[in-house]
Amino acid sequence: MSTVTTLTYDVFVSDPPQKADAPLLPNGERKGGSPVASTLISGAEDAVLTDPAFTSDQAQALGDWVAGKDRNVTEIFVTHGHGDHWFAAGVLAERFGARVVATEGSIAQMHANVAARPFLWDKAYAGLIPPAPVTAVTVPDNRLTLEGHDLVIVEVGHSDTDDTTVLHVPDLDLVVSGDVIYNGAHLYLGESVLVGGLDPWRRAIDKVAALEPRHIVCGHQNRELDDDADRTIAETRQYLDEADELFRTEPTAVAFFNAMIELYPNHLARTVLWASANALYGVRDNPDGDVREIILAGWL
Ligand SMILES: [Zn+2]
Repeated sequence: MSTVTTLTYDVFVSDPPQKADAPLLPNGERKGGSPVASTLISGAEDAVLTDPAFTSDQAQALGDWVAGKDRNVTEIFVTHGHGDHWFAAGVLAERFGARVVATEGSIAQMHANVAARPFLWDKAYAGLIPPAPVTAVTVPDNRLTLEGHDLVIVEVGHSDTDDTTVLHVPDLDLVVSGDVIYNGAHLYLGESVLVGGLDPWRRAIDKVAALEPRHIVCGHQNRELDDDADRTIAETRQYLDEADELFRTEPTAVAFFNAMIELYPNHLARTVLWASANALYGVRDNPDGDVREIILAGWL
């Protein structure tokens, strides 16, 4: 007799680190970051963790929360290469004896994010991020198995960076969306300047919608909001459309920043909005500039 276990999922949101001496945004707020959501998908004994955030403090708090769930963590899945989603993966993999999993494309992006640490991450978040060698491995057929249930890695291409993926759990009607779908936090639009605009992201959203999930755990979210798939998909599409429109009509990065805050007064992560504005307007206004340098400078 075999027993069929039922999966469950729980979400832990790590607040962004806040440095008392961080530079200011145009509205006078201190720069910070965006909340990062980690999902623990659990069977009766085993569990898979996603996107384990990036600072040593976050690794400690998230790890304690995971330990409280009393499961054997087999894998830590990383949806994409942005360091804020995975620089803590090694610390947690060691604590729980888990392996880190990502696609080949995401692993290449992870290496690029490690290379950018001295110019970006370790400048904006000096002293907060642990050593983070890339230890992720791929899995056959982009598929994990948790007590007989499939967890399917779906490659959706460029969303807020290249080579992004989501984790589809059909038996939970769940998609863990990484940065493809957002929920109550400003979208990072900066890397759209590398791919000719926001249409690749729209196509990535279409791929998530085609999975027809009921629930979406967004990588960046306001923990007060629910995980309704239809709402978060519609709101992410709408944000892209409104950003496109305001980029056409607002003359400067500051005007764009202010107009977006007026449209989204409750959205978290205005630091991300400012980085987006700097990249969009920086590239438009400096056609001969180094695009990657302009994108990086937008964060600092
Ligand atoms: Zn992100």
